[in-house]
This record gives sequence, C-alpha cells and structure tokens, in this order.
Amino acid sequence: MNKLLPTSTAGSLPKPSWLSEPEKLWSPWKLEGEALIEGKQDALRVTLMEQQVAGIDIVSDGEQTRQHFVTTFIEGLDGVDFEKRETVKIRDRYDASVPTVVGAVSRPKSVFVEDAKFLRSQTKAPIKWALPGPMTMIDTLYDAHYKSREKLAWEFAKLLNEEAKELETAGVDIIQFDEPAFNVFFEEVNDWGMATLERAMEGLKCQKAVHICYGYGIKANTDWKKTLGSEWRQYELIFPSIQKSSVDLVSLECHNSHVPLDLIELIRGKKVMVGSIDVANKTIETPEEVADTLRKALQFVDADKLYPCTNCGMAPLSREVARGKLNALSAGAEIVRRELQA
Ligand SMILES: [Zn+2]
Repeated sequence: MNKLLPTSTAGSLPKPSWLSEPEKLWSPWKLEGEALIEGKQDALRVTLMEQQVAGIDIVSDGEQTRQHFVTTFIEGLDGVDFEKRETVKIRDRYDASVPTVVGAVSRPKSVFVEDAKFLRSQTKAPIKWALPGPMTMIDTLYDAHYKSREKLAWEFAKLLNEEAKELETAGVDIIQFDEPAFNVFFEEVNDWGMATLERAMEGLKCQKAVHICYGYGIKANTDWKKTLGSEWRQYELIFPSIQKSSVDLVSLECHNSHVPLDLIELIRGKKVMVGSIDVANKTIETPEEVADTLRKALQFVDADKLYPCTNCGMAPLSREVARGKLNALSAGAEIVRRELQA
C-alpha cells in the first residue's frame, strides 16, 4: 500500500438478517442449498460495498460465508465429527460444546477459495483473508485421536498452509491467522505455538498477518477482562517470539484496552494493525477518539508501518453500529494522515 495509514478491519462484520439472525455468534443460516450459496454471495457484495462506502482501504469478506471464524474451517476437514460433541473450556475461560477429532485430520478440498475468488472478482482493492491459527483451532475442539495439543496443531498447520497457498493464488493480498489463544497459553506459544504458525505460513509470498486480541464483546470475555487487572501485559510474553518470526503484520487490541502501548516497541519493525475501534462496546467512537489511539501508537510504530484497524471482529454488533464504527475508523485515520502530511 502506498497510502499512509491504510485502514482495515480485524475480521468479521455483521451479516444481513435475511442470511442469519443478527447479533449472535454461531447463528444458523436462514437459507439452504442454491439459495444459501447465492445469499452468501449477495452478503459478500453488501459487506464489500459497506466497507468501500466507509472508505476502508484493505477490504475483506467480513466472514459472511462462515458461521464462526474457527468452526467453519474445521467443518471443511475430515477427521472431525460434528455430531460427537464434548464440552470443553475455550481459552481457559468459558464452556462450549465442540466437535470431536475422531481420526487423522485432512482437507479433502479447499474451504474458502471459491469465496475468495468471488470477492476478488468484485474489487481491485487489496484483500485480507482470515484463517484460524493452529493453536486457536485445537482450543476449539475435543481431541480423542492425537491426544496431544502440539501434535494436532502441527497437523492443522499443514492443512492451513495448503489452504493459504490456494488463497494466495486466488489473489488474496494479506492472509491473516487469528490466534486469540496466543493471549492465554504463553508457554505453549513460545514452546511450539509460534513454530506451528510458521508452518502454516511456510512458502507464502503474500503478506502474512497474525491477529491476537482479547476476544469478541461477549460476556465471557468482558468478565475475563475484569480479572486482568489495570495493566494488560499478556502481549509482552509473546512479542519476542513474534519479533523473530516471519510474520509481516501484527493485529492488536489497543482502543479502550488496558494494554500499555509501549509494549508495541517489542515488535518494532513489524507492521502493526492498531485496533482503534472497541468491538465490546456499542458506543460509536468519535473520529477524534480513534485519532487519539493512533497518535499514541505512533510513538512505537513508524508511520509507514501503522495500519488502523478494529480491536477484533464485529459480528456480534448491529449493522448500524458496525457501519458507524467503520466510518469513525476512516475519519480518525484521515485526521492523523493529515497531521503526518502537514
Ligand atoms: Zn479477535
């Protein structure tokens, strides 16, 4: 990108109510068969237009074709039984009923590549595509086969790498791996989590991003945040590993969060997608609030490496609130852009 401070979103955006019930995670589809395929494509068109009308520079699919950022990819794999469910603690935080790994995992065909080709055909703007990271995938499953988090993560990394390479060929400019689990299992990240992410990114020539956040604005997450104290220093434990990795962009939660922004100094040199929109709060930021977060981040990120973004996905918000937040992001970035070019 030649433009200074190119804007983007961390991932999901709300879906139209004719496609699935809004403001809900894992919301079931309202359509079936051919009508569902067409409905998903229409939703992609709408989300793309909304991003472009708001002036977002790096666009995405807003995850319109997936029910959930982790499970939809897993649904495309063999070796996982979605009928056989177990309750596990996700991110060490909340109980969820999840599918079971019952055999060797494999990817019989690509999962998102047709959707990515469709999005590519609709715009010339740079596209970012999100995939779950290996560690976040294993944390959203019950494993009755490998019985080793590490072994399963390496298997998933291989499959993610195949998918990512096909997405790259389809014309995706930035592939982002979502790793909220990196903010919880620090020892594992430094032990093998980062290595499995490297495996997932191996050989990619497009830009590679990792998104590490404090989660969607759901109750389990906001309750957890209340226990983290006044300074959130989780990033400090994993940034040295990220600094040494081949990751190009790091997507972080910065706005309204208790993350001391000077921690970003630890990944100096990387491009940073600075979360300047709070997704856990329905209040729409003013452009000046967004600009303020960006100015603070500029102390630790070079201007040509700063990418204004949202803290996390906006799927659980109403469309109206999400649109307002996209507009605020654009307007706030423009304020700082003008200051930098003055
Ligand atoms: Zn997130």
